[in-house]
Amino acid sequence: MTCVFCCLISENTARWIFRGPTVSAFAPLDPLAPGHALVIPTSHYADIFGTPPEVLAETMALVQRLSGTMRTALKAGGVNILSASGPGSA
Ligand SMILES: [Zn+2]
Repeated sequence: MTCVFCCLISENTARWIFRGPTVSAFAPLDPLAPGHALVIPTSHYADIFGTPPEVLAETMALVQRLSGTMRTALKAGGVNILSASGPGSA
């Protein structure tokens, strides 16, 4: 079974903000707020628990970089960062 993020990467169908060998980011088709972006590992990991620490570090580095860019571009007073892992996280 392939997850939705892997489909976006393999089919190259997302609105990419950044594509890298370890981490990628895209804008959702139906954003919840100005600057809404999803930052994901480029390779598949089921959740935060199975993701290698070095991949998480690169992911968070991109989150930090995009947050700064969005804060400046949107003149936002802050950012909201969400990570959900597992069925009990919703
Ligand atoms: Zn996947």
